[in-house]
Amino acid sequence: MRYALIADIHANVTAFTAVLDDIKRKGGVEEIWCLGDVVGYGPDPHQCLELLRQYKHVCVAGNHDWAAIGKLDTSNFNPDAAAACHWTAQQLTPEDVKYLESLPLVIQKGDFTLVHGSPREPIWEYLLSTSSAKENFAYFQSPFCLVGHSHVPLVFKYGDDDDACLFSSFSPYAGLILGRSRLIVNPGGVGQPRDGDPRASYAIYDSERKMIRLYRVPYDIDATQVRMVRHNLPMRLVVRLNYGE
Ligand code: ZN
Repeated sequence: MRYALIADIHANVTAFTAVLDDIKRKGGVEEIWCLGDVVGYGPDPHQCLELLRQYKHVCVAGNHDWAAIGKLDTSNFNPDAAAACHWTAQQLTPEDVKYLESLPLVIQKGDFTLVHGSPREPIWEYLLSTSSAKENFAYFQSPFCLVGHSHVPLVFKYGDDDDACLFSSFSPYAGLILGRSRLIVNPGGVGQPRDGDPRASYAIYDSERKMIRLYRVPYDIDATQVRMVRHNLPMRLVVRLNYGE
């Protein structure tokens, strides 16, 4: 079976559609595993939720998903994120709100634990350092954990022999083999990548080959930016899409 691993769509339906088309080109998947933040920042919150619901999928809640429905206070958000969040809340249909309210914080799928931020703090914690990643291996039972939130594709590997945690960037096309080592894997962000590469990022897990492969997909960034400007979303959020930061 093959599964698409996607995170941080962030209301960018142009990027999301490009990723869905790429998945189809690669022969499709059994199910989409979505790691949260379907909405927030971008111009198409309702469209992204509607599109995701058309596919067989599971999805955990992200901080922006909760903030958009008032389940999380935006006082911890930077002003741009908070402004986008308030606009997002006005775009959601009652069905969208109901869907976002239903999202769990943690989902177990076979050998995988799915969370948005980290297994220890599913909503808030960013896993970008080996020290925080190492501590988090104690907070999930499965061999592997999938996270989003940082919008940076990466892999943390726990070495049982030496009790060390190793970081590696997750490069496209190489293929990550799932062996005996426990891993925390981030497939990068679909709608607002932050690793310096503006292309949408996602991965496909192949359960027979025991492999995860990362893909980068170009999309029409201008088209998303035009809609953001039209909706008066903060310029900093518009511009950052050009740079993938
Ligand atoms: Zn996010």
